[in-house]
Amino acid sequence: MSVHPLPITPPTGGRPGPAADRPLLQAEGVTLEYRTAAHTVRATHRVSFDVHRGDRFVLLGPSGCGKSTLLKAVGGFIAPREGSIRLDGRVVSGPGPDRVVVFQEFDQLPPWKTVKENVMFPLLASKRAGRREAEARALHWLHKVGLDRFADAFPHTLSGGMKQRVAIARALAMQPEVLLMDEPFAALDALTRRKMQEELQALWEEERFTLLFVTHSIEEALVVGNRILLLSPHPGRVRAEINSHQFGLHSLGGSEFQSTAKRIHGLLFDEPAQAGGVDAADAGHLPRPPRVQEA
Ligand code: ADP
Ligand code: MG
Repeated sequence: MSVHPLPITPPTGGRPGPAADRPLLQAEGVTLEYRTAAHTVRATHRVSFDVHRGDRFVLLGPSGCGKSTLLKAVGGFIAPREGSIRLDGRVVSGPGPDRVVVFQEFDQLPPWKTVKENVMFPLLASKRAGRREAEARALHWLHKVGLDRFADAFPHTLSGGMKQRVAIARALAMQPEVLLMDEPFAALDALTRRKMQEELQALWEEERFTLLFVTHSIEEALVVGNRILLLSPHPGRVRAEINSHQFGLHSLGGSEFQSTAKRIHGLLFDEPAQAGGVDAADAGHLPRPPRVQEA
């Protein structure tokens, strides 16, 4: 009797063959600059990182280190001066519905559209869905973020946290390859911010989307991310990459959490006592976490 081998399922749930092992998003030696007639501002210098499917990858660094600029480059809104950004192997050369951004600002929702229309809009504009399907998807995602009852409300009637939930629903309804978030909770009060981190975690547990999340808060990076890229102050360079999948809201206040936060602080601000005289990039490079499988 011949034995038939079981079909091999690619671990990432992607296409079979080499593409299955390839990082979803690859930034290689990315230098980003702003140019005006008078001068050039270098925002990042040769930044490289890989984001795998299902990662919650955090860009962490002080204000002005180029985090938002990096996110804009991944979004395809600005082109690298040096290096490249690839999504699923293809060079990013412009914006696309496979990358959707949630911003910090509460005014990212057009105020003349209801909550439901806001969520439907990118689906319709990108022709990803017809009206009926867009509406069904909008209601589905509004339910996921706990806003069913507010589908017909206008944004100005919502709290900051609720507006951010709408922005998240709108982004996830597009089913992007990568969800990009630029300090989405930074303008919220501390309690709401905590709640939103918790909800984002719960959504990720259910949906296993790929997240690229920007923050300047060490604590938020540890809570939200499974991997953290530390960037040095202006212009942003890679300081270290930290494995943080073991941390979550449950670890707040714990000793391992606090010592890691302290170590990150040392790496970010180049405190010799923390870095211990070792090359910071090596000191912070912990073993990679196991790959998260797509649901
Ligand atoms: P972060 O998000 O980490 O706070 P940014 O990516 O916004 O940092 O900015 C990186 C650097 O680029 C900063 O020095 C900032 O002043 C500069 N910068 C940002 N946007 C522009 C712009 N539109 N024109 C010129 N310089 C800019
Ligand atoms: Mg920013």
